[in-house]
Amino acid sequence: MVTNFGGNIVFSPAVVEKPGTEQEVLDLLRRHRSRQIRAIGRLHSWSPVAATDDVLVDMKLLNSVHVIEVNGQHFADVGAGCQIKRLLHELDRQGDWTLPTVGLIAEQSIAGAAATGTHGSGRYSLSHYLQRIEVACCDPVSGEPVIRVIDCGDELRAARCALGCLGLITKVRIPIRKQYLVEEHFRRYSRLADVLKAEQAYPLQQFFFVPWRWDYFAQHRREVSGQRSWLAPLYRLYWCLTMDVGLHLMVLLLIRLPHLFTLLFVRWVMPLTVIRRCRINDVSWRHLTMNHHLFRHVEIEIFVKASRLEATLQFVRQLLTHLSGEQVTFSVADKATLQREGLWDRLQQARGTYTHQYPICIRKVLPDDTLMSMSSDSEEAYYAISFITYAPVNRLSAFHRFARLLISCTLPLFGSRSHWGKHCPLSPGQVRELYPNLDRFRAVVESIDPEGHFRNPWISRLLGWQPDVRSVQQAQLDQGPCPPRHDVSNA
Ligand SMILES: Cc1cc2nc3c(=O)[nH]c(=O)nc-3n(C[C@H](O)[C@H](O)[C@H](O)COP(=O)(O)OP(=O)(O)OC[C@H]3O[C@@H](n4cnc5c(N)ncnc54)[C@H](O)[C@@H]3O)c2cc1C
Repeated sequence: MVTNFGGNIVFSPAVVEKPGTEQEVLDLLRRHRSRQIRAIGRLHSWSPVAATDDVLVDMKLLNSVHVIEVNGQHFADVGAGCQIKRLLHELDRQGDWTLPTVGLIAEQSIAGAAATGTHGSGRYSLSHYLQRIEVACCDPVSGEPVIRVIDCGDELRAARCALGCLGLITKVRIPIRKQYLVEEHFRRYSRLADVLKAEQAYPLQQFFFVPWRWDYFAQHRREVSGQRSWLAPLYRLYWCLTMDVGLHLMVLLLIRLPHLFTLLFVRWVMPLTVIRRCRINDVSWRHLTMNHHLFRHVEIEIFVKASRLEATLQFVRQLLTHLSGEQVTFSVADKATLQREGLWDRLQQARGTYTHQYPICIRKVLPDDTLMSMSSDSEEAYYAISFITYAPVNRLSAFHRFARLLISCTLPLFGSRSHWGKHCPLSPGQVRELYPNLDRFRAVVESIDPEGHFRNPWISRLLGWQPDVRSVQQAQLDQGPCPPRHDVSNA
């Protein structure tokens, strides 16, 4: 049995391979030529994107890091299974280098992170930066396993965020930069417009929309020159004890108590734990990453274009308030859209079924040059809005219901996309509507892997390579008795 980080995806592959060299990757492809093959990184995805019942290939031993110079620019050639924290350490060791961006944690593998469009704040996603990708796959004509080098055009755009579909990525090339300092401090705001205005001065900032206070705590960040603050080690200790551990222990307690306790904690206690206006300079990745992996949780993250952020957050507030059981008046326009989409009754029935307890993290992601990452295909930046639950795995049904409603409503209202690597209850029809480059992506995948050896059932269904079991069942349901249900999604 294989279990992901969140404990919400469990599967049992028939074979597990752990190659240590490219030659071993090619050998295993030869051995399993006619089978379904799936690579895994560190299993930090909450969606079934890495799941397989057939051949699982754990790429963690391919973890080399080489700094190279091409035409005066520096890059790192990185083994696909290299964990990002090892990569950061190696880059630092090999000459004070670092990555152009990092996500909130550094536990993922580089290929796994890129495969789902992993992002941080204020920059592009990691996928966007990949310049050259080496993929082990079978030659479509001879059928022989080969390493294919992908470094331009639609092939590169597809391979940057390939959702595991192109083959086994063995190596990636990513531009690197000299290590830099980031300055960070917190500030509270009551208006979104003020938070966004501050982005000009703090382009790397992320901020939190706090349920039941409905104000904003901005983690202002910007690149600075100078020295690491002498208080930085103390600040790290504060973060570790208060935010990484203390806050999360409190949340674990609050999910077992009536909602009133969450209200009291969020309104009166939590603000006291945030040190404000104290500016600390620290090495970039120390400020930009957190120990968010210490406590098991599940997350959904939606992406909306910058121009839709304010309206989306207004709706999110109304939705969460409504779901918690309070009376809410939705705007006439939103109500009309939801009625037209057949969602209004579902929304009404869901009242009182879910209470959200965790600050909603919001990060800006620049428009990627990829075909399928969440922030691709746009002139304007996206904002990623994340919702986290610490409910135990056997009590996730209310969160899942909320997540489905969130996606179903925010898609027609604001065109929201959901993160491929997080809980991702999209339907094939929604994927087609959201990703205008889907056919270009499919064309690249089909040219490299015409027989579909590197797809799994979840991705095949979502991207339209397999019939949508859910729609077929729905059609049958509309016509007559319900067939037994085999749920192939993580919804
Ligand atoms: C605590 C936590 C914090 C997170 N924070 C962030 C964040 O800040 N920002 C963000 O955007 N996301 C975040 N995520 C999501 C996470 O970054 C993505 O789900 C990422 O894909 C996980 O990487 P992984 O190495 O664990 O890959 P896996 O989950 O193992 O695999 C993901 C996909 O990559 C494919 N893959 C992996 N290796 C290869 C390879 N060598 N060749 C081909 N395909 C491959 C797999 O087949 C699968 O399709 C977070 C997740 C957790 C659990």
